[in-house]
Amino acid sequence: MAKLPVADIERLIYPVSFYRNKARHVLGCCDELVSRFGGRVPGTLEELTSLPGVGRKTANLVLILAFKSLRNICVDTHVHRISNRMGWVQTNQPDETEQALYRATARRWWPLINLYLVTWGQNVCRPVHPRCGDCVLAAECPRIGVAGNSLRPPADRRRSPR
Ligand code: SF4
Repeated sequence: MAKLPVADIERLIYPVSFYRNKARHVLGCCDELVSRFGGRVPGTLEELTSLPGVGRKTANLVLILAFKSLRNICVDTHVHRISNRMGWVQTNQPDETEQALYRATARRWWPLINLYLVTWGQNVCRPVHPRCGDCVLAAECPRIGVAGNSLRPPADRRRSPR
């Protein structure tokens, strides 16, 4: 991969969003994997986030999926949005949400939170027009910040998964 022209990587990863930018990051990342890590993907958050284009979201996902870590939560836009709608956290940024989720959720859910909430966020708890009418969690969900939700949740409905 490190030897490929960037145009080839662009073609390979199209149609992901921002594919031109990501292709440059993939190339830079592979280059550093070879030059700094002997061609092996490192297994710590600090090393992973030192690579081009790798932030906490990606690093946590690599640790969960490739290294079978049970100590990480991968927070993307779906996890951030749904955790706030459900009232598990009250945060403005995904990195903040990650830290709040470590405090708010039981450890056994940590490696699974991304898998469940991304699927949920793509199909039910969508960014715009969430399907609250079809949602099996509607009775439990305070729907914080959802457009058209005039109800303020009682404190005892702001529950986190335990
Ligand atoms: S009730 Fe609505 S806001 Fe709450 S989880 Fe379901 S879709 Fe999301």
